[in-house]
Amino acid sequence: MAPQYDAIVVGAGFGGMGAGIQLDRLGLSNFVILERENDLGGTWHVNHYPGLAVDIASVTYSYSFEPNPHWTRLFAPGTELKKYAEHVADKYDLRRRMRFDTVVGGARWDEEQQHWVVSIENGESLTARYILAATGFLSQPYTPPFPGIDTFAGKIIHTTAWDNDFDLTGRKAAIIGTGATAVQLIPEVAKKADALTVFQRTPIWVVPKVDTAIPKPVQTLFERVPATQKAARMVNTTMLEALMVVGVLHFKQAKPLNKAAALLAKAHLRTSVKDKETRRKLTPDYDFGCKRPTFSNLYFKTFNEEHVRLETNSIDHIEPDGIVTADGHKTEIDTLILATGFNLWDVNFPAIEIIGRDGVNLGKFWRDNRFQAYEGITVPKFPNFISLNSPYSYSGLSYFTTIEAQMKHMGRLFGEMFRRGEKTFEVTEHANTEFLDRVTDKLDSSVFYSGQCSTARSYYYNQHGEAALLRPTSTVNAHREAVSFPLDDYTYGSASV
Ligand code: NAP
Repeated sequence: MAPQYDAIVVGAGFGGMGAGIQLDRLGLSNFVILERENDLGGTWHVNHYPGLAVDIASVTYSYSFEPNPHWTRLFAPGTELKKYAEHVADKYDLRRRMRFDTVVGGARWDEEQQHWVVSIENGESLTARYILAATGFLSQPYTPPFPGIDTFAGKIIHTTAWDNDFDLTGRKAAIIGTGATAVQLIPEVAKKADALTVFQRTPIWVVPKVDTAIPKPVQTLFERVPATQKAARMVNTTMLEALMVVGVLHFKQAKPLNKAAALLAKAHLRTSVKDKETRRKLTPDYDFGCKRPTFSNLYFKTFNEEHVRLETNSIDHIEPDGIVTADGHKTEIDTLILATGFNLWDVNFPAIEIIGRDGVNLGKFWRDNRFQAYEGITVPKFPNFISLNSPYSYSGLSYFTTIEAQMKHMGRLFGEMFRRGEKTFEVTEHANTEFLDRVTDKLDSSVFYSGQCSTARSYYYNQHGEAALLRPTSTVNAHREAVSFPLDDYTYGSASV
């Protein structure tokens, strides 16, 4: 039996949409994009907490082939990202290929039929020649198992399930977590709540955010003369690249740059927070870059406000009307906001069960061995499988550089397969091992292995202690390899149907 689809894409965020656009370009237009949420946009659909904005300048945080001249700020608010996603879906005719509220349970490679069988939680099965997992890195919200959390009598909100109708005015709120999400949210909650206690386990590096409105005339210029926006993108991308490559990936060779970033963050803290003890508590004791640093002009200042308190004692348990810390102190609250992030390594790699050739389970393979993926996109024993959210795939600071490198890799790989008149591909063990050895080697110079990161509790590290998320090369290298990897790093085959 011929499969129902050329391809099934799982996830209708920017990764899945990029994959869809590339499939169309490759002539594999009979595809479906399955999405568990009720609309498109991925992160930018799920997250809509107050203060949400992109933290990579918008000229760079967008597809290079689909610039948006209408960003209203240098760092656009979340609503504009969602709107941009909708625009892309419509312009590239992706919406009619999307199926929402469709939870994929798993996918299994059918060796005999040489296609994938994808099972949906409603009991339906779909078949496709190729499967592309675009389920995102930060898509499985994490709620720590605080003892007593079920007994809490007030309102509990996780930042990924924000209730837009909930009014914080006059509330006694707590926010648990001080990651990038909390940094954006805390100043907004402080504006409305009567009292706000922030429960911090690990402080975060925060540098000033050079944000500004983009005036209408500049938007018009970007629209009429796209080269101007392209130039702005290039400048911004180069700055991000320098920060990432020199400060983070070549930490060993360029410590002063990394230290300079930390000094900037410390100066920002000193000029923003009046109380010395609060400043001390907000100062990280790990190197800059161990964790994704954040940008904000409001976060630190919020701790000067009388009704805002920073709590650094660890949480012991939760009671119906408050949070009790290890020192026995109870903070009475009626609203509990969980800015506790995502579970990456236990449930997100991969986010669905993937069973490849010889019954190999991808999640088990990664956990029992090392997390690995050739060029951050394919895995031996998983034919016709493109994994967009793979170990060592995240290249650069803007997710779009990763997506576009992966689109290029798809173009070269599928192009060669078609040229040979074949229908299946699989990366060789040899190529995969060589890539893994290379990235492992390169990571030695990075802040993750050469810096002091032991106290950072960074999600960049997996359960084996490996920083297996970021590709330790420049984005230029990632893009160059995407169009020049040896074609024999793959085997190609035919399918009888
Ligand atoms: P996160 O960085 O993982 O932060 C989660 C926070 O919850 C951390 O402060 C963590 O403390 C705390 N936490 C977790 N378990 C805890 C426990 N048992 N007790 C006390 N505290 C606990 O998650 P996030 O803030 O949602 O950000 C995730 C990523 O999303 C960011 O790094 C960024 O890449 C992305 N993001 C981007 C934007 C943007 O572009 N605009 C905005 C928001 C987020 P520890 O540090 O001690 O573990």
